[in-house]
Amino acid sequence: MVNTGYFNQAILQFPVDMRNQVLIIGGGLSGLSAAIHAIGHGIKPVILEKNRHLGGRVRSLFSADIETIIDNGQHVLSAAYHETKNLLIKIGSIDQIYFQKNFEAAFARGINSQIYFRTVPLPSPWNFFVPLLKHRRFTGIPFRDFIHFVQKTRNPDSVLLEKMSVAEWLDYCSQGSAIRKLLWHPLCYSILNTPPQQGSAFLLFRAISASFLGPSSQSGLGIPLNWLSEIFAGPAQKYIEKFGGEIHHFTAVKRIKVEGSKIQKIVTNKSEFAAPHVIMAIPPFSLLALLENSPVNILNDIRQWMNQLKYHPIMTINFYLKEELPFQFPLLLISSPFHWIFPHPKMEQETKLAGYAAVISAAHYYNDYSRDEMINLLASELSKLSGANHEIVKFKIVTEKRATVSQDTVFLKKRPAFETEIENLFLAGDWVNTGLPATIEGAVLSGKLAVEAMLRKSSISGSI
Ligand SMILES: Cc1cc2nc3c(=O)[nH]c(=O)nc-3n(C[C@H](O)[C@H](O)[C@H](O)COP(=O)(O)OP(=O)(O)OC[C@H]3O[C@@H](n4cnc5c(N)ncnc54)[C@H](O)[C@@H]3O)c2cc1C
Repeated sequence: MVNTGYFNQAILQFPVDMRNQVLIIGGGLSGLSAAIHAIGHGIKPVILEKNRHLGGRVRSLFSADIETIIDNGQHVLSAAYHETKNLLIKIGSIDQIYFQKNFEAAFARGINSQIYFRTVPLPSPWNFFVPLLKHRRFTGIPFRDFIHFVQKTRNPDSVLLEKMSVAEWLDYCSQGSAIRKLLWHPLCYSILNTPPQQGSAFLLFRAISASFLGPSSQSGLGIPLNWLSEIFAGPAQKYIEKFGGEIHHFTAVKRIKVEGSKIQKIVTNKSEFAAPHVIMAIPPFSLLALLENSPVNILNDIRQWMNQLKYHPIMTINFYLKEELPFQFPLLLISSPFHWIFPHPKMEQETKLAGYAAVISAAHYYNDYSRDEMINLLASELSKLSGANHEIVKFKIVTEKRATVSQDTVFLKKRPAFETEIENLFLAGDWVNTGLPATIEGAVLSGKLAVEAMLRKSSISGSI
């Protein structure tokens, strides 16, 4: 007899109307967001997640090597992440993120070559450019670069932007090497996790417009004050379960069964699930693997594109010192292998060591470096900046190999919509076409838009 898993058990126990349930594959932020929005429409979400943890690429873990909790990688939000903020308000953890009122960060290049940068209350982009001009001795940016940028971006041509890499766009805006090194390249690595030669100008400009070219209050960074799982996955799980949603951990979807124009069954490592409505909230490489295992011919229009996608790693070195570093934070490093250093959100209670995260985005170059080589590189960068030697008491390197898709012009070309040719299949995930870069905000928005697409297309209606 076919075991139809949760749904049949549920039907045996309660007369649940199957039309009012949605099966969500993947418990990352896009899946959690879809579940929370489904609840908002009175629809019961059932999440199938292959791992023990929820949160996907935004999670905390206990590292046995250094006997402490760390995050899988430093995450920073933006005050312009409106969907994420709304979600955090709903699940009750918005106070666990510190949102700066305006953008602030320390920039460092070496000893005696550091500034603390704050935007000023002027219309954008002058709120950024005026303080950069004020620090001209540090930045070396000529005034003409600002003027060229303003002239070229006043009426941006989105067709042109869609075709250009960030490097080409900076050429087009006649940006010199100083402003590239200090501003545009760090923004490109931080937002797109893609080198400027490949990164999509359209996506970078889209993110910059939302955060830095809008009202000054949108420019602030959002810095986690707690471990990521305490902010996202933990409170989201509580919320979903409180409102009658189901979460199945260690439940990997292996195959999908399609009949006619509908998915009939979802086959997992544990059982089969009937599938009245399905939101796939998994990355493209997982979706491809799933399609290869499934004797179905669907999503042909994007399969070839998904095969062409590349991914970039992010490396985070969590390191611990006896004394605090003598810098202001967050610290943006100029002309260094490391892009940012952030203090850990919590001090280790027992050891009282000061913990930090040093981040390298698009970190392919360091793939073959050993742990010792990386930690020596970090120690030498720290002493270049402070003029002192810092004894690194312990460390843990976490490399997320496929941290994000390469956000280049190939990626931009064919990002799929939320609806698919299969009547009851919808897509979510940071890679789906939200118009935003593949970030937390993109993932959260995609979950909401996938639920809205499902409501538009199907006869599903709410009852919980
Ligand atoms: C180190 C690092 C740093 C980052 N920094 C930032 C940052 O500072 N700011 C920012 O905005 N963004 C950042 N990002 C990007 C951000 O984390 C992602 O955009 C976002 O988390 C993607 O969420 P998602 O739900 O689309 O995908 P995922 O988080 O990948 O979720 C997919 C889920 O599906 C599950 N799954 C996959 N296949 C199956 C299957 N067959 N069956 C069941 N479950 C399955 C996975 O286990 C996973 O839980 C960073 C990412 C990394 C890795």
